[in-house]
Amino acid sequence: MKIKKMFDKGTVFSFEIFPPKKTSPVDTIYKTLEELKGLSPDFISVTFGAGGSSNNNASIEIARKIKQDYGIESVIHLPCINYTKDEMVDILGELIDNGITNILALRGDIIPDIPPKQDFRYASDLITFIKKYGDFDIAGACYPEGHIETENIVNDVLNLKKKVDAGAEHLISQLFFDNDYFYSFLERTQIAGIDVPIEAGIMPVTSKSQIERMVSMCGASLPPKFSKMIQKYEHSPEALRDAGIAYAIDQIVDLVSNNVDGIHLYTMNNAYVARRISEAVESIIRSSKK
Ligand code: FAD
Repeated sequence: MKIKKMFDKGTVFSFEIFPPKKTSPVDTIYKTLEELKGLSPDFISVTFGAGGSSNNNASIEIARKIKQDYGIESVIHLPCINYTKDEMVDILGELIDNGITNILALRGDIIPDIPPKQDFRYASDLITFIKKYGDFDIAGACYPEGHIETENIVNDVLNLKKKVDAGAEHLISQLFFDNDYFYSFLERTQIAGIDVPIEAGIMPVTSKSQIERMVSMCGASLPPKFSKMIQKYEHSPEALRDAGIAYAIDQIVDLVSNNVDGIHLYTMNNAYVARRISEAVESIIRSSKK
């Protein structure tokens, strides 16, 4: 089923996972997926390395299995910056061969040691290319606080409009910890004439090192309430995990009460945390379905 259609039925609830590192056995992810399956997400998306790593074959294989073996719709992430058009044709052919029809089309982060190939400059270039190539459902990424490279948040939304005009049929947001940023962003998208569904990206924080890594990568603001929570529990891993789960649940309840199109949970492959959150918000999500 194409993901776009899912939004017709009310609030979408989805998960994101990543393939295990090359040094870990790929089977570890299937144990996680067994548990995630029981939580009945609308879809599960699988990340894909921008550097053209051989682990990307694992991403395709995992996305295939999610759909074929677990009976859940899957979305493959697809960063383009380090691929030529010919290489992209090969990847798209592989997706078709594996029955994968939903793509989160991305530019990918620029990796200092890898000079970008010149065929795709922005995610919108990839979207235009995929649309000509085949019948895929295409999503794009969006940034409630602005993309880390952008000089201003208004231009960022105007660039996002180009991505939607190129053919992105729904959007998945970067993680954020302050819902007000997301609501302001939604207002800017409306002003810009962006009318596709937008899922809110929620990352439950479970350790201090995770927050530091995430904030340096994506620049998400930390509201005082959140920072206080981290300070209070940073030396008590179990308490920090539980506080992080509670914080994510609180964000989701507020977002669903404000009629967001969907919640995309960055699970970090942690089935326990995904289960606690899913169980807590299950009836809330259900009551938002038509
Ligand atoms: P773009 O939409 O191309 O935007 C990149 C920058 O260029 C922005 O600053 C934008 O404002 C600007 N821009 C866009 N179009 C134009 C234009 N026409 N003219 C001028 N400026 C323009 N990365 C991975 O490598 N693998 C993953 O699996 C992955 N999954 C992700 C999932 C989500 C939900 C999100 C939010 C991000 C993910 N990323 C992933 C990270 C993403 O690749 C980076 O954030 C990357 O830096 C930007 O990708 P993009 O597709 O948003 O780029």
